[in-house]
Amino acid sequence: MARLVMKFGGTSVGDMDRIRNVARHVQREVNAGYEVAVVVSAMAGKTNELVGWVKDGSKLYDAREYDAVVASGEQVTSGLLAIVLQEMGIPARSWQGWQIPIETSDAHGSARVTAVDGTRLLDGFNTHHEVAVIAGFQGIHPPTGRLTTLGRGGSDTSAVAIAAAIGAERCDIYTDVDGVYTTDPRIVSKARRLERVAFEEMLEMASMGAKVLQVRSVELAMVHRVPTYVRSSFDDPANPGLGTLICDEEDIVEQQIITGIAYSKDEAQITLRRVADKPGVAAAIFMPLAEANINVDMIIQVVSDNSTATDITFTVPAAEYERARTLLETAKAEIGFDRLEGATDVVKVSAIGIGMRSHAGVAAKAFKALAEKGINIRAITTSEIKFSVLIDEAYTELAVRTLHSLYGLDHAA
Ligand code: ADP
Ligand code: ASP
Ligand code: MG
Repeated sequence: MARLVMKFGGTSVGDMDRIRNVARHVQREVNAGYEVAVVVSAMAGKTNELVGWVKDGSKLYDAREYDAVVASGEQVTSGLLAIVLQEMGIPARSWQGWQIPIETSDAHGSARVTAVDGTRLLDGFNTHHEVAVIAGFQGIHPPTGRLTTLGRGGSDTSAVAIAAAIGAERCDIYTDVDGVYTTDPRIVSKARRLERVAFEEMLEMASMGAKVLQVRSVELAMVHRVPTYVRSSFDDPANPGLGTLICDEEDIVEQQIITGIAYSKDEAQITLRRVADKPGVAAAIFMPLAEANINVDMIIQVVSDNSTATDITFTVPAAEYERARTLLETAKAEIGFDRLEGATDVVKVSAIGIGMRSHAGVAAKAFKALAEKGINIRAITTSEIKFSVLIDEAYTELAVRTLHSLYGLDHAA
Protein backbone atom coordinates (compact mmCIF):
# COMPACT_ATOMS: atom_id res chain seq x y z
CA MET A 1 0.00 0.00 0.00
CA ALA A 2 1.21 3.49 -0.78
CA ARG A 3 2.20 5.66 2.18
CA LEU A 4 1.76 9.37 2.71
CA VAL A 5 3.01 11.95 5.22
CA MET A 6 0.73 14.92 5.97
CA LYS A 7 2.08 17.75 8.15
CA PHE A 8 -0.12 20.43 9.71
CA GLY A 9 1.35 23.68 11.12
CA GLY A 10 0.32 25.70 14.15
CA THR A 11 -2.51 27.73 12.62
CA SER A 12 -3.95 24.58 11.03
CA VAL A 13 -4.31 22.95 14.50
CA GLY A 14 -5.03 26.25 16.32
CA ASP A 15 -8.27 25.08 18.01
CA MET A 16 -10.56 22.07 18.22
CA ASP A 17 -12.57 23.01 15.13
CA ARG A 18 -9.40 23.27 13.11
CA ILE A 19 -8.21 19.92 14.43
CA ARG A 20 -11.53 18.43 13.28
CA ASN A 21 -10.92 20.02 9.88
CA VAL A 22 -7.44 18.44 9.78
CA ALA A 23 -9.04 15.09 10.58
CA ARG A 24 -11.25 15.46 7.50
CA HIS A 25 -8.16 15.97 5.31
CA VAL A 26 -6.68 12.82 6.84
CA GLN A 27 -9.95 10.94 6.30
CA ARG A 28 -9.85 11.81 2.58
CA GLU A 29 -6.41 10.24 2.15
CA VAL A 30 -7.27 7.19 4.25
CA ASN A 31 -10.36 6.67 2.07
CA ALA A 32 -8.15 7.02 -1.00
CA GLY A 33 -6.26 3.97 0.28
CA TYR A 34 -3.09 5.51 1.75
CA GLU A 35 -1.31 4.47 4.92
CA VAL A 36 -1.00 7.86 6.59
CA ALA A 37 1.52 9.33 9.02
CA VAL A 38 0.42 12.77 10.22
CA VAL A 39 2.91 15.20 11.76
CA VAL A 40 1.50 18.04 13.85
CA SER A 41 2.87 21.29 15.27
CA ALA A 42 1.80 22.86 18.55
CA MET A 43 -1.30 25.08 18.45
CA ALA A 44 -0.54 28.55 17.05
CA GLY A 45 1.21 30.73 19.64
CA LYS A 46 1.81 27.83 22.06
CA THR A 47 5.53 27.40 21.40
CA ASN A 48 6.10 31.15 21.85
CA GLU A 49 4.27 31.01 25.16
CA LEU A 50 6.36 28.06 26.35
CA VAL A 51 9.61 29.77 25.29
CA GLY A 52 8.46 32.87 27.20
CA TRP A 53 7.95 30.84 30.37
CA VAL A 54 11.42 29.29 30.09
CA LYS A 55 13.03 32.72 29.72
CA ASP A 56 10.98 34.01 32.63
CA GLY A 57 12.34 31.12 34.73
CA SER A 58 15.98 31.90 34.05
CA LYS A 59 18.00 34.08 31.73
CA LEU A 60 20.72 31.44 31.49
CA TYR A 61 18.34 28.48 31.30
CA ASP A 62 19.42 24.83 30.93
CA ALA A 63 18.91 24.04 27.23
CA ARG A 64 17.90 20.45 28.06
CA GLU A 65 15.04 21.71 30.20
CA TYR A 66 14.11 24.26 27.51
CA ASP A 67 13.56 21.27 25.22
CA ALA A 68 11.58 19.39 27.89
CA VAL A 69 9.24 22.38 28.13
CA VAL A 70 8.85 23.46 24.48
CA ALA A 71 8.41 19.89 23.16
CA SER A 72 5.17 19.66 25.15
CA GLY A 73 3.08 21.74 22.72
CA GLU A 74 3.26 19.02 20.05
CA GLN A 75 2.45 16.30 22.57
CA VAL A 76 -0.94 17.94 23.16
CA THR A 77 -1.92 18.27 19.49
CA SER A 78 -0.81 14.75 18.56
CA GLY A 79 -3.00 13.26 21.30
CA LEU A 80 -5.94 15.51 20.41
CA LEU A 81 -5.85 14.66 16.72
CA ALA A 82 -5.68 10.92 17.52
CA ILE A 83 -8.77 11.33 19.73
CA VAL A 84 -10.68 13.25 17.04
CA LEU A 85 -9.77 10.67 14.37
CA GLN A 86 -10.94 7.84 16.64
CA GLU A 87 -14.17 9.74 17.24
CA MET A 88 -14.67 9.73 13.46
CA GLY A 89 -14.17 5.99 13.37
CA ILE A 90 -10.61 6.10 12.03
CA PRO A 91 -8.12 3.99 14.03
CA ALA A 92 -5.24 6.24 15.14
CA ARG A 93 -2.57 6.57 17.80
CA SER A 94 -0.20 9.31 18.85
CA TRP A 95 3.60 9.06 18.78
CA GLN A 96 6.17 11.22 20.50
CA GLY A 97 9.59 11.61 18.95
CA TRP A 98 11.32 9.26 21.43
CA GLN A 99 8.75 6.51 20.93
CA ILE A 100 9.51 6.12 17.21
CA PRO A 101 12.43 6.94 17.80
CA ILE A 102 13.55 10.05 15.95
CA GLU A 103 17.21 10.22 16.92
CA THR A 104 19.02 13.55 16.98
CA SER A 105 22.26 15.23 17.95
CA ASP A 106 22.49 16.83 21.40
CA ALA A 107 22.42 20.41 20.10
CA HIS A 108 19.48 21.24 22.36
CA GLY A 109 17.14 23.84 20.89
CA SER A 110 18.30 23.18 17.32
CA ALA A 111 19.15 19.49 17.18
CA ARG A 112 19.79 17.70 13.89
CA VAL A 113 17.99 14.51 12.97
CA THR A 114 20.58 11.73 12.77
CA ALA A 115 18.33 8.67 12.22
CA VAL A 116 14.66 7.76 12.04
CA ASP A 117 13.58 4.18 12.60
CA GLY A 118 10.38 3.59 10.63
CA THR A 119 9.86 0.00 11.90
CA ARG A 120 7.32 0.75 14.60
CA LEU A 121 5.32 3.07 12.38
CA LEU A 122 5.18 0.44 9.63
CA ASP A 123 4.17 -2.14 12.20
CA GLY A 124 1.32 0.17 13.24
CA PHE A 125 0.14 0.30 9.61
CA ASN A 126 0.46 -3.44 9.00
CA THR A 127 -0.80 -4.85 12.28
CA HIS A 128 -3.26 -2.25 13.55
CA HIS A 129 -4.24 -0.43 10.36
CA GLU A 130 -4.02 2.84 12.25
CA VAL A 131 -3.06 6.37 11.33
CA ALA A 132 0.17 7.44 13.05
CA VAL A 133 -0.17 10.92 14.56
CA ILE A 134 3.34 12.15 15.29
CA ALA A 135 4.41 15.04 17.50
CA GLY A 136 6.60 17.19 15.25
CA PHE A 137 9.61 19.30 16.28
CA GLN A 138 10.99 16.76 18.78
CA GLY A 139 13.38 13.84 19.04
CA ILE A 140 15.70 12.10 21.47
CA HIS A 141 19.47 12.04 21.91
CA PRO A 142 19.94 8.32 22.70
CA PRO A 143 23.28 8.45 24.58
CA THR A 144 21.84 10.84 27.17
CA GLY A 145 18.20 9.81 26.83
CA ARG A 146 17.17 13.47 26.76
CA LEU A 147 14.40 15.04 24.73
CA THR A 148 15.53 17.42 22.00
CA THR A 149 13.84 19.94 19.69
CA LEU A 150 14.75 20.70 16.10
CA GLY A 151 14.74 24.52 16.06
CA ARG A 152 11.82 26.81 15.30
CA GLY A 153 9.70 25.60 12.43
CA GLY A 154 11.17 22.11 12.98
CA SER A 155 7.98 20.12 12.40
CA ASP A 156 8.58 20.52 8.66
CA THR A 157 11.84 18.65 9.15
CA SER A 158 10.18 15.94 11.25
CA ALA A 159 7.70 15.40 8.42
CA VAL A 160 10.27 15.05 5.63
CA ALA A 161 12.52 12.85 7.78
CA ILE A 162 9.61 10.51 8.47
CA ALA A 163 8.57 10.50 4.81
CA ALA A 164 12.10 9.37 3.90
CA ALA A 165 12.16 6.74 6.66
CA ILE A 166 8.88 5.07 5.70
CA GLY A 167 9.35 5.47 1.94
CA ALA A 168 6.32 7.73 1.54
CA GLU A 169 5.11 8.49 -1.96
CA ARG A 170 5.12 12.18 -1.02
CA CYS A 171 5.15 14.61 1.89
CA ASP A 172 2.34 17.19 2.02
CA ILE A 173 3.08 20.25 4.17
CA TYR A 174 -0.28 21.87 4.99
CA THR A 175 -0.10 25.46 6.18
CA ASP A 176 -2.08 28.72 6.19
CA VAL A 177 -1.19 29.64 2.58
CA ASP A 178 -1.92 27.54 -0.49
CA GLY A 179 1.66 27.14 -1.64
CA VAL A 180 5.05 28.79 -2.01
CA TYR A 181 4.72 32.32 -3.37
CA THR A 182 7.13 34.57 -5.23
CA THR A 183 7.45 36.41 -1.91
CA ASP A 184 5.68 36.51 1.45
CA PRO A 185 2.01 36.99 0.45
CA ARG A 186 1.40 38.70 3.79
CA ILE A 187 3.46 41.71 2.79
CA VAL A 188 3.06 41.78 -1.00
CA SER A 189 -0.51 41.41 -2.25
CA LYS A 190 0.75 40.96 -5.80
CA ALA A 191 2.74 37.85 -4.87
CA ARG A 192 2.03 34.87 -7.13
CA ARG A 193 1.77 31.22 -6.19
CA LEU A 194 4.42 29.08 -7.86
CA GLU A 195 3.38 25.74 -9.34
CA ARG A 196 6.88 24.36 -8.87
CA VAL A 197 10.10 25.46 -7.17
CA ALA A 198 13.48 23.79 -7.57
CA PHE A 199 15.00 22.29 -4.40
CA GLU A 200 18.00 24.61 -4.63
CA GLU A 201 15.88 27.71 -4.98
CA MET A 202 13.66 26.68 -2.09
CA LEU A 203 16.75 26.06 -0.01
CA GLU A 204 17.98 29.60 -0.68
CA MET A 205 14.53 31.13 -0.15
CA ALA A 206 14.16 29.37 3.20
CA SER A 207 17.73 30.27 4.25
CA MET A 208 17.11 33.89 3.30
CA GLY A 209 14.01 34.17 5.47
CA ALA A 210 10.97 32.63 3.70
CA LYS A 211 9.76 30.75 6.74
CA VAL A 212 7.16 28.70 4.87
CA LEU A 213 9.55 25.72 5.15
CA GLN A 214 12.36 25.13 7.64
CA VAL A 215 15.72 25.06 5.83
CA ARG A 216 16.64 21.57 7.05
CA SER A 217 13.38 20.12 5.75
CA VAL A 218 14.33 21.28 2.25
CA GLU A 219 17.85 19.83 2.63
CA LEU A 220 16.39 16.47 3.63
CA ALA A 221 13.81 16.50 0.84
CA MET A 222 16.61 17.22 -1.64
CA VAL A 223 18.98 14.54 -0.33
CA HIS A 224 16.34 11.82 0.03
CA ARG A 225 14.41 12.92 -3.08
CA VAL A 226 11.10 13.22 -1.26
CA PRO A 227 8.47 14.88 -3.49
CA THR A 228 7.22 17.63 -1.18
CA TYR A 229 4.13 19.78 -1.64
CA VAL A 230 3.20 22.96 0.25
CA ARG A 231 -0.58 23.28 0.35
CA SER A 232 -3.40 24.83 2.36
CA SER A 233 -5.25 23.22 5.25
CA PHE A 234 -7.98 25.83 4.74
CA ASP A 235 -9.01 24.36 1.38
CA ASP A 236 -12.19 22.31 1.35
CA PRO A 237 -11.10 18.86 2.61
CA ALA A 238 -13.29 17.31 -0.08
CA ASN A 239 -11.64 19.23 -2.88
CA PRO A 240 -8.22 20.67 -1.99
CA GLY A 241 -5.78 22.44 -4.31
CA LEU A 242 -2.46 20.76 -5.06
CA GLY A 243 -0.26 23.62 -3.85
CA THR A 244 3.40 23.96 -4.84
CA LEU A 245 5.71 21.06 -5.64
CA ILE A 246 9.35 21.31 -4.58
CA CYS A 247 11.19 19.37 -7.27
CA ASP A 248 14.26 18.98 -9.46
CA GLU A 249 15.33 21.90 -11.61
CA GLU A 250 14.88 19.73 -14.73
CA ASP A 251 11.18 19.28 -13.94
CA ILE A 252 10.47 23.00 -14.27
CA VAL A 253 9.44 24.00 -17.76
CA GLU A 254 9.19 27.77 -17.56
CA GLN A 255 12.24 28.98 -15.68
CA GLN A 256 12.29 32.67 -14.74
CA ILE A 257 15.54 34.53 -14.07
CA ILE A 258 14.36 35.39 -10.58
CA THR A 259 11.93 33.03 -8.84
CA GLY A 260 11.40 34.74 -5.52
CA ILE A 261 12.24 37.55 -3.10
CA ALA A 262 12.84 36.83 0.59
CA TYR A 263 13.62 39.02 3.58
CA SER A 264 15.03 38.44 7.02
CA LYS A 265 14.86 40.79 9.99
CA ASP A 266 17.00 38.41 11.97
CA GLU A 267 20.17 40.37 11.15
CA ALA A 268 22.40 42.81 13.00
CA GLN A 269 25.19 44.94 11.59
CA ILE A 270 28.54 45.58 13.26
CA THR A 271 31.08 48.09 11.98
CA LEU A 272 34.60 48.36 13.36
CA ARG A 273 36.02 51.81 12.69
CA ARG A 274 39.68 52.44 11.96
CA VAL A 275 40.93 48.87 12.13
CA ALA A 276 44.69 48.57 11.56
CA ASP A 277 45.14 47.72 7.85
CA LYS A 278 47.67 44.90 8.14
CA PRO A 279 47.85 41.14 7.51
CA GLY A 280 46.09 38.98 10.08
CA VAL A 281 43.57 41.53 11.21
CA ALA A 282 40.57 39.79 9.61
CA ALA A 283 41.58 36.58 11.38
CA ALA A 284 41.88 38.47 14.68
CA ILE A 285 38.28 39.65 14.28
CA PHE A 286 36.57 36.59 12.87
CA MET A 287 38.37 33.74 14.66
CA PRO A 288 36.97 34.60 18.13
CA LEU A 289 33.49 34.91 16.61
CA ALA A 290 33.82 31.52 14.91
CA GLU A 291 35.09 29.93 18.12
CA ALA A 292 32.02 31.29 19.91
CA ASN A 293 29.80 29.71 17.22
CA ILE A 294 28.62 33.08 15.95
CA ASN A 295 27.82 32.93 12.25
CA VAL A 296 29.10 35.87 10.26
CA ASP A 297 27.26 36.45 7.01
CA MET A 298 27.98 39.56 4.94
CA ILE A 299 31.45 41.11 5.17
CA ILE A 300 32.66 44.39 3.69
CA GLN A 301 36.14 45.79 4.07
CA VAL A 302 36.63 49.30 2.82
CA VAL A 303 39.84 49.85 0.91
CA SER A 304 41.77 52.40 2.92
CA ASP A 305 43.34 55.40 1.22
CA ASN A 306 46.28 55.82 3.57
CA SER A 307 46.93 52.09 4.18
CA THR A 308 47.13 52.47 7.97
CA ALA A 309 43.50 52.03 8.97
CA THR A 310 40.29 50.74 7.41
CA ASP A 311 36.63 50.07 8.30
CA ILE A 312 35.17 46.56 8.44
CA THR A 313 31.41 45.92 8.39
CA PHE A 314 29.71 42.55 8.82
CA THR A 315 26.45 40.99 9.92
CA VAL A 316 25.62 38.44 12.61
CA PRO A 317 22.25 36.90 13.61
CA ALA A 318 20.26 39.42 15.70
CA ALA A 319 20.11 36.92 18.57
CA GLU A 320 23.94 36.87 18.73
CA TYR A 321 24.41 40.64 18.48
CA GLU A 322 25.07 41.38 22.17
CA ARG A 323 27.39 38.39 22.54
CA ALA A 324 29.37 39.43 19.45
CA ARG A 325 29.70 43.02 20.69
CA THR A 326 30.95 41.90 24.08
CA LEU A 327 33.47 39.52 22.53
CA LEU A 328 34.86 42.18 20.20
CA GLU A 329 35.02 44.87 22.88
CA THR A 330 36.96 42.43 25.07
CA ALA A 331 39.43 41.76 22.26
CA LYS A 332 39.63 45.44 21.29
CA ALA A 333 43.28 45.94 22.22
CA GLU A 334 44.33 42.76 20.46
CA ILE A 335 42.45 43.51 17.25
CA GLY A 336 43.28 47.21 17.35
CA PHE A 337 40.29 49.33 16.31
CA ASP A 338 38.99 52.77 17.27
CA ARG A 339 35.34 52.07 17.98
CA LEU A 340 32.51 49.63 17.36
CA GLU A 341 29.21 50.76 15.86
CA GLY A 342 26.19 48.51 15.59
CA ALA A 343 22.64 48.47 14.26
CA THR A 344 19.80 46.02 14.77
CA ASP A 345 17.14 47.91 12.81
CA VAL A 346 18.33 46.36 9.54
CA VAL A 347 16.86 43.80 7.15
CA LYS A 348 18.41 41.55 4.53
CA VAL A 349 16.44 41.40 1.30
CA SER A 350 17.39 38.68 -1.18
CA ALA A 351 16.46 37.77 -4.74
CA ILE A 352 16.76 34.11 -5.69
CA GLY A 353 16.71 32.41 -9.07
CA ILE A 354 18.55 29.66 -10.91
CA GLY A 355 18.41 31.88 -14.01
CA MET A 356 21.04 34.14 -12.41
CA ARG A 357 23.64 31.52 -13.35
CA SER A 358 23.30 32.35 -17.00
CA HIS A 359 22.38 36.05 -16.95
CA ALA A 360 24.71 38.96 -16.21
CA GLY A 361 23.73 42.25 -14.61
CA VAL A 362 20.75 40.91 -12.69
CA ALA A 363 21.85 42.39 -9.36
CA ALA A 364 23.01 45.69 -10.87
CA LYS A 365 19.45 46.37 -12.01
CA ALA A 366 18.28 46.00 -8.42
CA PHE A 367 20.84 48.44 -7.03
CA LYS A 368 19.62 51.07 -9.47
CA ALA A 369 15.93 50.44 -8.69
CA LEU A 370 16.53 50.64 -4.95
CA ALA A 371 18.55 53.85 -5.32
CA GLU A 372 15.70 55.42 -7.28
CA LYS A 373 13.42 54.75 -4.28
CA GLY A 374 15.95 56.45 -1.99
CA ILE A 375 16.92 53.18 -0.28
CA ASN A 376 20.50 53.12 0.92
CA ILE A 377 22.36 49.80 0.66
CA ARG A 378 24.57 49.06 3.67
CA ALA A 379 26.06 45.78 2.44
CA ILE A 380 25.78 43.40 -0.51
CA THR A 381 26.53 39.71 -1.01
CA THR A 382 26.09 37.59 -4.08
CA SER A 383 26.33 33.90 -4.85
CA GLU A 384 25.58 31.75 -7.85
CA ILE A 385 21.80 31.86 -7.62
CA LYS A 386 21.06 34.77 -5.29
CA PHE A 387 22.06 38.23 -4.17
CA SER A 388 21.26 40.00 -0.91
CA VAL A 389 21.27 43.62 0.21
CA LEU A 390 21.29 44.90 3.76
CA ILE A 391 19.08 47.98 4.21
CA ASP A 392 17.23 49.92 6.94
CA GLU A 393 14.37 47.87 8.35
CA ALA A 394 11.90 50.71 7.75
CA TYR A 395 12.22 50.09 4.00
CA THR A 396 11.50 46.35 4.09
CA GLU A 397 8.16 46.39 2.30
CA LEU A 398 9.16 49.06 -0.20
CA ALA A 399 12.32 47.16 -1.13
CA VAL A 400 10.59 43.77 -1.43
CA ARG A 401 7.81 45.28 -3.58
CA THR A 402 10.30 47.16 -5.75
CA LEU A 403 12.33 44.03 -6.52
CA HIS A 404 9.18 41.95 -6.96
CA SER A 405 7.94 44.32 -9.68
CA LEU A 406 11.38 44.83 -11.20
CA TYR A 407 11.79 41.12 -11.96
CA GLY A 408 8.30 40.76 -13.38
CA LEU A 409 6.92 38.69 -10.52
CA ASP A 410 3.74 40.74 -9.83
CA HIS A 411 0.59 38.93 -10.83
CA ALA A 412 -1.61 40.62 -13.39
CA ALA A 413 -4.15 42.74 -11.50
P1 ADP B 1 3.07 26.76 9.83
O1 ADP B 1 2.63 27.19 11.19
O2 ADP B 1 2.00 26.08 9.05
O3 ADP B 1 4.34 25.99 9.85
P2 ADP B 1 4.52 29.15 9.04
O4 ADP B 1 4.01 30.40 9.68
O5 ADP B 1 5.74 28.53 9.60
O6 ADP B 1 3.31 28.09 9.01
O7 ADP B 1 4.75 29.39 7.46
C1 ADP B 1 3.73 29.90 6.66
C2 ADP B 1 3.92 31.39 6.46
O8 ADP B 1 5.11 31.63 5.73
C3 ADP B 1 2.84 32.07 5.63
O9 ADP B 1 1.74 32.45 6.42
C4 ADP B 1 3.58 33.26 5.03
O10 ADP B 1 3.29 34.48 5.68
C5 ADP B 1 5.06 32.96 5.25
N1 ADP B 1 5.86 33.07 4.03
C6 ADP B 1 7.03 33.75 3.93
N2 ADP B 1 7.51 33.70 2.68
C7 ADP B 1 6.64 32.95 1.96
C8 ADP B 1 6.59 32.52 0.58
N3 ADP B 1 7.56 32.85 -0.28
N4 ADP B 1 5.54 31.76 0.18
C9 ADP B 1 4.58 31.40 1.06
N5 ADP B 1 4.57 31.78 2.37
C10 ADP B 1 5.58 32.54 2.82
N1 ASP C 1 5.95 24.47 17.19
C1 ASP C 1 7.29 24.68 16.71
C2 ASP C 1 7.52 26.15 16.43
O1 ASP C 1 6.62 26.97 16.61
C3 ASP C 1 7.63 23.84 15.52
C4 ASP C 1 6.80 24.10 14.27
O2 ASP C 1 5.75 24.73 14.34
O3 ASP C 1 7.23 23.65 13.21
O4 ASP C 1 8.60 26.53 16.06
MG1 MG D 1 6.37 26.57 10.00
